[in-house]
Amino acid sequence: MKTSIATVSLAGDLEEKLAAIAKTGFNGIEVYEQDIIGFEGTARQAGNLVRDYGLSITLFQPFRNFEGMPENQRSNSFDRARRKFDLMGELQTGLLLVGSSVSGEASGDVERIADDFNQLAELAKERSIQIAYLGLAWAPYINDHLKAWEIVQKVDHPCLGLGLNSFHSMMAKPASQAIDEIPGDRIFLVQLADAPVIDMDLRYLSKHFGSMPGQGDLDLEQFMRKIAATGYSGPLSLNVTNDKFSSANPRTIAVDGYRSLLNLADHVRRLEPAFAIEIPDIPDRAEARGFEFIEFTSNDKNEARIIGTMLHAMGFAYVGHHISKAVGLWRQGNINIVINTESEGFAYSAYIMHGTSICDIGVQVDDALATLRRARAMGAKTFHQPVGAGELNIPAIRGVGGSLLHFIDAKTDLGKVWEIEFTPQKQENEPEAAGLDHIDHIAQTMNYEEMLSWTLFYTSIFKSHKSAMIDVADPSGLVHSQAISSNHGDMRITLNGSETHRTFAGQFLADNFGAPVQHVAMASNDIFKSAAIMQKNGFVSLEMPANYYDDLKSRFDLEKELIEKMQAANILYDRDEGGEYFQFYSQPFFSGFFFEILQRKGDYSGFGARNAQFRIAAQKKYQRISGIPLC
Ligand code: MG
Repeated sequence: MKTSIATVSLAGDLEEKLAAIAKTGFNGIEVYEQDIIGFEGTARQAGNLVRDYGLSITLFQPFRNFEGMPENQRSNSFDRARRKFDLMGELQTGLLLVGSSVSGEASGDVERIADDFNQLAELAKERSIQIAYLGLAWAPYINDHLKAWEIVQKVDHPCLGLGLNSFHSMMAKPASQAIDEIPGDRIFLVQLADAPVIDMDLRYLSKHFGSMPGQGDLDLEQFMRKIAATGYSGPLSLNVTNDKFSSANPRTIAVDGYRSLLNLADHVRRLEPAFAIEIPDIPDRAEARGFEFIEFTSNDKNEARIIGTMLHAMGFAYVGHHISKAVGLWRQGNINIVINTESEGFAYSAYIMHGTSICDIGVQVDDALATLRRARAMGAKTFHQPVGAGELNIPAIRGVGGSLLHFIDAKTDLGKVWEIEFTPQKQENEPEAAGLDHIDHIAQTMNYEEMLSWTLFYTSIFKSHKSAMIDVADPSGLVHSQAISSNHGDMRITLNGSETHRTFAGQFLADNFGAPVQHVAMASNDIFKSAAIMQKNGFVSLEMPANYYDDLKSRFDLEKELIEKMQAANILYDRDEGGEYFQFYSQPFFSGFFFEILQRKGDYSGFGARNAQFRIAAQKKYQRISGIPLC
């Protein structure tokens, strides 16, 4: 089974598209007639150029509104077909995709449609061309794969087969089933496209909001398992159009496309070992066991001191100093926070780029090297810098905003990094620990356009799932929020995409030149106790207005005493069908970075999204104010 991608999914001219696609693992493309029209040379030269890039032409399209036309237009349909066949001969490609007719003039008479396809298949036979017939979900008559399959069976010609497309198969209403009953050798093409499930005209949805497998809401695993059950071994081709793609770098789209296809195909092959697809043998997605550490970079002594003061107030103890570098370790519960004040190396470069910020995230996995291999296969950039004497070589890749993701496992010495690379320190005025136990989530801010890419980045490397995207109302514009949680909830990441720099998230992004992490949330088992200890240690929380608590009374049936207790500690509240969520925040510092302290009760699975608008309004009071809040 070959893998390919439609040129229409990428921006640029034909050569730019080919250059981007050839650098990924695809071995074919779907060529659109527009690519050839816009090409400077002949169609034959265009075909040769594709092959020069080491790619083949999986199929040619479009050919629309062919069948069932009134008698006086019928010969015109066949003339158009002959011209397409001529062009395909020049390109040297042998598969034509024909979408079912959407013409208002076409007839839905099955006998007549079958007759047209019989004649077309005879013409195709003379040219050694095959035709894949695809039922478009928005067509008036042949609008799902079973109806198209009925025509293919009726014609019963070796040059006519079925074309399947996940979007059309899964969006057809009622959703048609029974793909697995179609013999695989009668399917000539399988196209993959994902999409958000929103109530919208299907044609408009497909054209403007299509997404790569895994980026939308369709159950492509189920679709692919059915394809596998047919014994199909033809091409697997991505055919996705999205307004955002047309302004994106073609290389980004090609990498995302290959990552999505490989991730899906690898997953389905594990479930269906007989699935005949040529993809590399790669390690499975990693089980993320939690965050091992976060690392701040700061070459500014004053700002590094401010982080230290903040951590102290939060109940962190300074417990170690790196054996050879200006790197300190702070710890509380299972949370390790590193402050790097080096004047060279990666952390320093990150400081120069983003200022004082989080530059590195450590993730606990079962096998760090296997995770690195998986990430590399999924197109992630690996990272390496010289390792000093006595230091460990910890596998790492590049993540959001040029930051690093390090992988730590317990089965090798990597799990002993703190003992190996750090000299224990004892702080003189150790603070009272505040009961912060582990990092619950990390919130990463990015431009909205990048969100689909980074979602796929995480979900293709880690066994994880994404929640439905939600919109957070910032008074200055919308922020879209996408949560990704590892299967057991040990690693949670929220991606926040701002469409404008006027929002609190957008301004953070602009002021810090794309710094990767805007807030880190730490979990407590008793948030009221944590808040009291932190306050005693000198921590000042983000003040919430009285209106918030008035509103809370009307929204939830809560004891008056509990609300008063929350208000006294600036604690916010949320609830879902699984449980409850309590949270409070630090004041923002370093141009919009902040900490969150939270407690989950029961199986609450969210992140307090309901409270975000109140939090943002409170934080905005600090926006653009120079200096640092007390802590
Ligand atoms: Mg949060």
